Amino acid sequence: MLDFTLSKAQQEFRDYAHQVAVEEMRPISLECDRSEKIPESFFWNMQKRFWAGSAGQARMVSAEERQENVLSLLSQEEMAWGDAALSTAIPGPGLAAPPILAQGTPEQQAKFLGLYMDGQLHWGALALTEPGIGSDVSGIATTAIQDGDEWVINGHKHYITNGARADLVITFATIDKSMGRAGIRPFVVPKGTPGLKVGRIEEKMGLRASQTAELIYEDCRIPKDHLLAGREKSTKAGFKAAMGTLDATRPMVGALAVGIARAAHEMTTHWVKEELPKGYPAHKRRDIENELEELRQEIQMARFLVWRAAWMADKRIPNSKEASMCKAYAGGLVMKVTATGVRISAPGENSEAKQFLNKWFRDAKVFDIFEGTAQIQRLVIARRLFPEVEIP
Ligand SMILES: Cc1cc2nc3c(=O)[nH]c(=O)nc-3n(C[C@H](O)[C@H](O)[C@H](O)COP(=O)(O)OP(=O)(O)OC[C@H]3O[C@@H](n4cnc5c(N)ncnc54)[C@H](O)[C@@H]3O)c2cc1C
Repeated sequence: MLDFTLSKAQQEFRDYAHQVAVEEMRPISLECDRSEKIPESFFWNMQKRFWAGSAGQARMVSAEERQENVLSLLSQEEMAWGDAALSTAIPGPGLAAPPILAQGTPEQQAKFLGLYMDGQLHWGALALTEPGIGSDVSGIATTAIQDGDEWVINGHKHYITNGARADLVITFATIDKSMGRAGIRPFVVPKGTPGLKVGRIEEKMGLRASQTAELIYEDCRIPKDHLLAGREKSTKAGFKAAMGTLDATRPMVGALAVGIARAAHEMTTHWVKEELPKGYPAHKRRDIENELEELRQEIQMARFLVWRAAWMADKRIPNSKEASMCKAYAGGLVMKVTATGVRISAPGENSEAKQFLNKWFRDAKVFDIFEGTAQIQRLVIARRLFPEVEIP
């Protein structure tokens, strides 16, 4: 049965994440956005908070109610409420974890994820996108050629979140271009491997404090056992790993979008209550209040779509359609809510509230792009709704 009533322990976990967002993220949010820099102290604070704090809280949640995906998105929503860019920089394996968990052997999981357990600052990244190859990852051009006990990787990735600071980069490459998507495999490339170079760091409109890097692989040699896909021997394993990763991460991205939308909605509501000019016509105020009420309902709907997709992932129910639905809906909604906030607060002074609304408006756009654009989510949904129709 589908039941989204949170247990007491889950609520406490969410409350803890919210407290962290209030205390660690909001106070530095605007400055990090301006400077595109994050102070080192933030990384350590988050490291400590999530080791001593929420990790401890998570341990209190019993096994049946742990629901890793649902728990994770409870915290993602709160982190994005605090600052979505900072949330992408919290130390940990991040996007590297899902493919390692889905495609790694038990030994690989212990080895690669064990790296993140030593209490130091470590990050992970996932590198799918290449110049010219984003939406259709089956065209990946980065190659991996086996040479004795090593794989030799050559290619070029861009727009990789945490790419320059990641200790492990899960790199998708083809072992044989003639095999098309069946030739794609995920490889674990550690930071500092000779031949792995960091290129340009993007200057962005939104999520400015989040690091987005270019990675260049030139005869980059990694040990043979850094090929994931050990659990699934079929030739489609690598492509399945890429797609399976998205089924797990799209609800998380949806949760981030809901977090920003909620933050913007709260701030706009507060602005209307406190700062709408005196003498503002009553009928116009009512229109604004109605608009905000409709948006509140839509945020709630987005949250339920996100929770359903994550709940299915926890139950091991195939969720590609639902993951795409929640990502497409939440990604569109966050742009609508933040745009409304900017419009409604337009007559105001350049208050802190307005600065936050402007920032969230800029941050929102990428939720329509990464982890698959809205057009691609609709293709995924359509393929599952109408499997008999050939969609190019
Ligand atoms: C801030 C940021 C962080 C990112 N982080 C990562 C990361 O960590 N790892 C990673 O691998 N990638 C990452 N990306 C890349 C991101 O996933 C891609 O930008 C995205 O998948 C789109 O790919 P593209 O930019 O190549 O656009 P394209 O695929 O070239 O698409 C361009 C446009 O064409 C449309 N389009 C394409 N194909 C179709 C179709 N068949 N039907 C209809 N419309 C279509 C798209 O919707 C889009 O509007 C990040 C991007 C950004 C901006």
